[in-house]
Amino acid sequence: MSFAALWESLLPVGRDGASGGYRRFSWTPEDAACRAWFTRAAAERDLRVLTDRNGNLWAWWDPPGLPGAPGAPGAPAGPAAPGGAKAVVTGSHLDSVPDGGAFDGPLGVVSAFAAVDLLRERGHVPVRPLAIAAFSEEEGARFGVACLGSRLLAGTIDPGTARALPDAAGVTLAEAMAAAGHDPDGIGPDDDLLAAVGAYVELHIEQGRALADLNAAIAIGEQIWPHGRWRLDFTGQPDHAGTATLADRRDPMLPLAAAVLAARQAAASHGARATVGKVIAEPGAVNAVSARVSAWLDARGPDESTLQAVVGEVLSAAREAAASHGVGLAAEPESVSPAVRFDPGLRETLASSLAARGIRAPVLPTAAGHDAGVLAARVPSAMLFVRNPTGVSHSPAEHAEPADCAAGVQALAAVLEDLGCR
Ligand SMILES: [Zn+2]
Repeated sequence: MSFAALWESLLPVGRDGASGGYRRFSWTPEDAACRAWFTRAAAERDLRVLTDRNGNLWAWWDPPGLPGAPGAPGAPAGPAAPGGAKAVVTGSHLDSVPDGGAFDGPLGVVSAFAAVDLLRERGHVPVRPLAIAAFSEEEGARFGVACLGSRLLAGTIDPGTARALPDAAGVTLAEAMAAAGHDPDGIGPDDDLLAAVGAYVELHIEQGRALADLNAAIAIGEQIWPHGRWRLDFTGQPDHAGTATLADRRDPMLPLAAAVLAARQAAASHGARATVGKVIAEPGAVNAVSARVSAWLDARGPDESTLQAVVGEVLSAAREAAASHGVGLAAEPESVSPAVRFDPGLRETLASSLAARGIRAPVLPTAAGHDAGVLAARVPSAMLFVRNPTGVSHSPAEHAEPADCAAGVQALAAVLEDLGCR
């Protein structure tokens, strides 16, 4: 089966030997290797590859006799097919969080290529343009803004702001793009490309283990919880860990600790999620009180008011603790995404496509952000989830069984057939 060969060929790219996790960060050599893999997979299938202005990859399966599908150089703006038939797009992302798993993102891209193979094996031909997309910097692992490629495409982040985003080493997105051979001056909303897309369907590994309990391999996405990330900078006074008396200290680590505990408590009391997964202590010496501690709060909730309540409680606990320790605190949101309800009509189409083929697919919400959530503001979007037996994600332990991956390909092919080939 083509899935296994594609999967195996991508597996070594960006894998860290020690952790077994992936480090595929945008505009790095590992990212270039992922892009080369995508281009090769598309070329093997005679799909036309384009990199859009924002660095997202598109592999187009043009309907016969219909050259110049959306995004092609010189192609007309807007719908490319006769009668205004808009493109059907599927895909996901190839980048990873630090030491992420193999499935988050790549499962959707690999399944998309495998679904195209399946459609061809069955003799289907698209009647409207069909594309596989791989969105850039979905995880925000390098530049701090999740879904950066799709946000730029959809116009939900200012291009100038995006260009200036720094990575941990101070390299800006503009510099990183330019170093990788992509012109950063062209980034920003691409209304012509979006206007040509009629539907976006993203297949993704389940992040949670609801499907294991429901004894189903596939789910249809219902909504994405509102979520965001906030940066907290605690500024204290650097000092000697031995000679500075406790009373004289202004230790920024202490209010951070209070904030971390408050995050857990607020999430628990509101039925939400809050996590501090990244902390930088400066200067970072074992025998010194820190000068400054920066931490990132990731918070998610079933609705916006819950999310606001959680973040509000964490920030007020942090402020209170900072004040009582003589520590300064600056807190600001880095990215906040509202709740996304996927297009009901498209969701119904997915449900009937799967039902017609005897594929049972419960409808589930997700607490994870996705490019499909960003694009949903501009294009009817939907998601399919593939069972993750342990529910673990953003970790090398993330997993889907081969039979479930195959079920995902079957489900995606069914949807693409009904949306794109009829
Ligand atoms: Zn993902």
